[in-house]
Amino acid sequence: METIILKDIRKVYKNGVEALKDINISINAGEIVGLIGPNGAGKTTLLNIILGLLKPTEGVSKILGVDTDKMTKRERKKIGFILDGPGLYDDLTVDENIKFWSELYEVSQIRGEALLNQWGLYENKGSLVKELSAGMKQKLAISRAFLHDPSIVLMDEPTSNLDPVARKNMVEFLKSLHDKEKTLLITSHDLFDIERICSRIILLRRGQIVVTGNMEELKEALGVRMGVTIKVSSKIPKDIVNEISKDSEVNVIGEKELILSGDKISPSSVVRYLVNKGIDVERVEEEKVTLEDIYTYIVKEDEE
Ligand code: ADP
Ligand code: MG
Repeated sequence: METIILKDIRKVYKNGVEALKDINISINAGEIVGLIGPNGAGKTTLLNIILGLLKPTEGVSKILGVDTDKMTKRERKKIGFILDGPGLYDDLTVDENIKFWSELYEVSQIRGEALLNQWGLYENKGSLVKELSAGMKQKLAISRAFLHDPSIVLMDEPTSNLDPVARKNMVEFLKSLHDKEKTLLITSHDLFDIERICSRIILLRRGQIVVTGNMEELKEALGVRMGVTIKVSSKIPKDIVNEISKDSEVNVIGEKELILSGDKISPSSVVRYLVNKGIDVERVEEEKVTLEDIYTYIVKEDEE
C-alpha cells in the first residue's frame, strides 16, 4: 500500500528560491527510505511538505490516501516527526513536554517515561528544554516522535548531535523497525548509517531527484562499477594481461596483482582463465561500493 505520495511537487519560496521541482515519490507501507543530498538540496523542505507544515507551490502530497492539507486529527496521530524546530517547547520542562504531547496524542504518560528512560533522559525530567544540550534535545525529540507509536515517522537528521553510544542505539532502534511495518523517511548526512538502516535511498540535488533505489539500483543507474583485485603467486606474463585487457580495464600492480574495472568485468572468468594458464590465484577481493562513494561520485560531477 502506498503510504506517502508526492506528485509533480514544486516549491518556490517567497524570496524566489525554487527549492523543489518535478518531485515524484511513492513510498509503500513498511519501507524505510533515506533522503540524502547536499546542504540546500531541499530535504527539509520536502519533509515539511509531506507533514503539511509547508504548502507546495504546485503538485499534490498525500499521506495514507489523504491530501496532506486535509488530514484529520486521527490521521495526524499516525504520523511522528523529528524536525529541527517544531515539536519541543523551550520554556517547559522535559516532563511537561511529554505530558503535553501525551495529552494531544491521547496516550498514557507511562510510555513517555519509558522512552525517556530508553534514551537516558529520565534524570533530566525536571530540566527546562532550553537548558538541555543539543544532543539531549535530540533525545527528547526522538522520545516525543515515538510517543504515540506512529506508523509513519519522518525524521530530519535524527542522529545529528547524538553522542556515539546514543547514535548507535538510534541506528539499532531504527533498524529494528524494519520488522514492525513502520514507514520511515530519514534525512541524514551520515551515509554510513543511512546505508545500514534504509531499504531505499532517494538522492536529491538542487531540488530534484537524481536517482532513487536500493544500493544495487543506485550503482546500476549511475554506472558505478566496483573494482576487483586478483592476487596471484607468480608473475603474470604480458600476453595473458593483454588477453584479459580485451574485456576489462586492467591495472597490474607489482606484477602479481591485477585490478580489474570497467563495465563488463567478469572476475570469475578471469580467475578461470588464469588457473587454466597455470597461474595460482591467491585471493580475489571485490571492492565494496558504499553509499558515500555513490554520493561523492555525484557531488563531484556537480562541481565539474
Ligand atoms: P536541505 O534540508 O536539503 O539542506 P532546505 O530544504 O533547507 O535544504 O533548503 C532548500 C533551499 O530552499 C535552499 O536554497 C534554502 O536556502 C531555501 N530555503 C529553505 N527554507 C527557506 C525559507 N523559509 N525561505 C526561503 N528560502 C528557503
Ligand atoms: Mg535540512
